[in-house]
Amino acid sequence: MRINIAIDGPSGSGKSSISKILSNKLGYTHLDTGSMYRAVAFACLKNNIDVKNEADIVNFIKNIKISFNDKNEILVDNENVSSLIRTNEISMLASDISAFAKVRELLVEMQKNIASKKGYILDGRDIGTVVLKDAEVKIFLTANSEVRAYRRMLQNKELGIESDFEKIKKDIEARDYQDINRKASPLKKADDAILIDASYMTIDEVVNSIIDVIEMRIKND
Ligand code: C5P
Repeated sequence: MRINIAIDGPSGSGKSSISKILSNKLGYTHLDTGSMYRAVAFACLKNNIDVKNEADIVNFIKNIKISFNDKNEILVDNENVSSLIRTNEISMLASDISAFAKVRELLVEMQKNIASKKGYILDGRDIGTVVLKDAEVKIFLTANSEVRAYRRMLQNKELGIESDFEKIKKDIEARDYQDINRKASPLKKADDAILIDASYMTIDEVVNSIIDVIEMRIKND
């Protein structure tokens, strides 16, 4: 039986890495919904779209094609933008444009369509509450902001990017605040989601605990 798995949580909680590992282990497809908001933000910037104007962004989205290649990398109008959307500027801009209800509607519709075939792991902020309300497994993955900032700093170091711990922590907290307090689909644990605080857990421990939840869910059906 193939199910859908929703993984929500704040930025830097490890959702993406964990979803990737899980998708390999289970033979499922991972859909990183944050990359879609990032790709739209990036493409708006590149095409001089006014990112404060909801109607302009909506129109723009209707005229572009967002897709994924066979390596699961995101493309806008067939251009691979996956390595261009991970900057701080795009992170914040993605958070800004994701606050527009009509922008969300369009992306949520695409996400629902993709996952309708089942066998998907979607990670984001509103998967368990909006996109896949009926997902068989819902996880809310979190970690404190110190730990998330520290992990981001280590990732940057590996990529050879200089970074300042306090600045990263402040950016993470600013994005959390914005994502939690927006009116349209704020970041929120679904009532039926299982909370995992990964602050002091290894990646393997998190992955194994999610696999336990999935196995239990499939067995009980
Ligand atoms: O997950 P990631 O950090 O790549 O997401 C970038 C931004 O996109 C988030 O800060 C959030 O504002 C937005 N987002 C969202 N809903 C999702 C996924 C991401 O609002 N399902």
